[in-house]
Amino acid sequence: MKLRPRLILAFLSIIILPIVSFFGVLSFFSYQLEELEGEHNERIDRALSEISVAVLRHYDVLEKGDEEQFYLEMKLLLEPYHLELIISSLDDEVLFQSTDYVEGEERDQSLFTMRRSQVQTLGGEVLNLEIKSDSLDLSSELTYNKILSVIVISISSGLLVLLILIVGWTIYISKTILHPLKEMYTATEEMREGNLNYEIPYRRKDEIGRFIEGFDTMREHLKQSFAKQRLYENNRKELIATISHDLRTPLQSIKGYVEGLNDGIVQNEEMKQRYLNVILSKTEQLNRLIDDLFEFSKMELDQLVMEKQLVSSQDYFTNILRDSEVDVKQKQGELLVTRPIPDVVLHIDQKRMEQVMTNLLDNAVRYGATEVEVSFVPYDGERVLEIHMRDNGDGIAEEDLPNVFERFYRVEKSRSLEHGGTGLGLAIARSIIEAHEGEIWVESTVGKGSTFVIKLPVV
Ligand code: ADP
Repeated sequence: MKLRPRLILAFLSIIILPIVSFFGVLSFFSYQLEELEGEHNERIDRALSEISVAVLRHYDVLEKGDEEQFYLEMKLLLEPYHLELIISSLDDEVLFQSTDYVEGEERDQSLFTMRRSQVQTLGGEVLNLEIKSDSLDLSSELTYNKILSVIVISISSGLLVLLILIVGWTIYISKTILHPLKEMYTATEEMREGNLNYEIPYRRKDEIGRFIEGFDTMREHLKQSFAKQRLYENNRKELIATISHDLRTPLQSIKGYVEGLNDGIVQNEEMKQRYLNVILSKTEQLNRLIDDLFEFSKMELDQLVMEKQLVSSQDYFTNILRDSEVDVKQKQGELLVTRPIPDVVLHIDQKRMEQVMTNLLDNAVRYGATEVEVSFVPYDGERVLEIHMRDNGDGIAEEDLPNVFERFYRVEKSRSLEHGGTGLGLAIARSIIEAHEGEIWVESTVGKGSTFVIKLPVV
């Protein structure tokens, strides 16, 4: 249940349930009282009929004028109920009044008429009987005190329910609201201390639960981004440590060869050509390294500007693959293209896309492939074009697969420029593909080769 209904329920129950309990208990006892009263009424009626019978039986005593004796006969019936009996004739002449024989306090009590009846004596005389009492009730136990205690019990039950509810809701609210808030405070403290593994144990699906879930997701993101940051920092440090080496090695070798040429060590044309070729290859290496670093710094600054145009996939890939076929052949490899290339319209930056393709092909050859196969798979009603580039090179180990697209990540940790580059090529390729709303991924088996897949949206 959500927080707001819970709080409303708490407030309503605290107000309503004690009142319900009060009236419930009150009506229960009132019902009992009514039943008791019914019984007492019966007892009164019984007492009255007994009194009537006794009046008739002892009327001769009264007739004889012995009122005292008559009172004594009546007393047993009247006294337990504090009753007064008045006997009068039809013409309202009072023949007997029991209060005349009662003394003290009781006599002063205010009485009211409870019953009136008429009886006929054996002699045919009709008498009016009036019975008075000082209370509504003949039973001395069933009095004001009883009603008072019923009210006290009802109020106490209401207060008890109120107390139970207050304690119950306080425990519940502190468990479901205050406790998680405290936990969250602890979690923020832990996070401030640098512990990002502190999970808040709360599984309810209410507002607090959602809030904690969001907090936990944030913690998880922070943890991941810190881990990424650490990896990135390590790679960057590693790169800076090796970049000077990577730059110095070809530079020193260029310097050596140029000095050789300068000193006149080179005697024949063939040797001179060899020296120049080495210098050229070293400058190409340097060029690639500097290009990668330049692209990377642009990527870091979000300055990879895309100049997209609408192109026919068939024309575009036919052109760039024609050049690549020659390139690969020069590097002792073979490029096979599955034709015909599907003809769909792509919205791409032609130079950047060529950069990606060249990078993938370069990598394939650099990492041991003698054969690279490029095929195109249009699908989803030609709304998407997939480019598969399969090579038979060294392959990538499973643990390296998730990282090869990370910046500065190189499987070959030695970082020799002979073997690879800066570890930036695939990171740049991914940035370019993502800027085209596409995706790039790799599937690979060590020793068998790798397949890089580029997925591009079709216009
Ligand atoms: P680099 O400039 O070092 O080649 P990349 O970002 O292009 O960096 O590639 C990252 C890593 O992925 C490389 O160091 C390499 O080990 C691995 N790799 C990339 N392409 C291939 C491939 N076709 N076959 C095997 N390994 C590859």
